Amino acid sequence: MFRTKVGMRAPLPAVTARFLHWMLPGCYRAVTIGSGVLLLAATAHAADFSGASAFKYTQAAVAFGPRPSGSAANRQLQTYIRSQLRMLKCEVTEDPFVAKTPKGDVPMTNIIAKFPGKSGHAIAVTGHFDTKLFPGRKFVGANDGGSSTGLLLELARDLSGTPRVDDVYVVFFDGEEAVGEWSETDSVYGSRHLAYKWKADGTLKRLKALINVDMIGDKSLGVLIEENSTVSLRKLVWNAASDLGYKAYFLDTGEKVDDDHMPFLKLGVPSLDLIDFDYDPWHKDSDTLDKLSPKSLDIVGTVVLESIHRLEHQ
Ligand SMILES: [Zn+2]
Repeated sequence: MFRTKVGMRAPLPAVTARFLHWMLPGCYRAVTIGSGVLLLAATAHAADFSGASAFKYTQAAVAFGPRPSGSAANRQLQTYIRSQLRMLKCEVTEDPFVAKTPKGDVPMTNIIAKFPGKSGHAIAVTGHFDTKLFPGRKFVGANDGGSSTGLLLELARDLSGTPRVDDVYVVFFDGEEAVGEWSETDSVYGSRHLAYKWKADGTLKRLKALINVDMIGDKSLGVLIEENSTVSLRKLVWNAASDLGYKAYFLDTGEKVDDDHMPFLKLGVPSLDLIDFDYDPWHKDSDTLDKLSPKSLDIVGTVVLESIHRLEHQ
């Protein structure tokens, strides 16, 4: 992704209390107050998002090493993602294409898991699994490429087996990263390809919302307001975060960031990018697993799952 404006970020207040929150009729979840007294642990959702599980998926992705588009490790990760999705109750499809990049033709493949609903409407949650190409370096992108992969795999596990209102698509984009310097034509190859494919086949018209996640595993989590994103969708997600007691992690400051949501936004789909860009190891070899925490993945995944639920019942 690419920032078009550098914004300032306020320090995060500590979260000292979470409050019981009734979400929708029949749906409530575990909450704690103060030092962590468990008040209630019940939910009508089939499965709660597990940050620990998302972290394990992230570890598995990172274990393949640097995963730039077109590399053997990228293809091995695709095989891993498919193998995990095929264990779930969902329809798995692929969107292979050849990208014209400054370094020539590069084969890329998006992977799409569909959890079918009945309303005719659709929601997409997306993120990228490729890592930026840095020849001669060992850039494993634990947060940048890894965290989104891990979160999406866990989200898919949670969505599996629950009857859905809307079709929910979980999309793993290839080719988010620029092959050279970030530009309109050298970036977001996978999302650009799928946006036009979905425009052509009519899927785009059915999309109520697209939520993209990127770099959301940082131990010091602070999801910024991405200023290109659709305001109403951003508010829905921020309200869900606030109601779940996670207000401190969803900032009230922001900036413009180019990311995989942009091709859909440009084609009229309400779209939102969830990204924490205050991350020193960004595009450095120090973007490793020790910079991440399962708790951050848990917070973002839980908020995304709740947001899907709210969007389905809008
Ligand atoms: Zn990147």
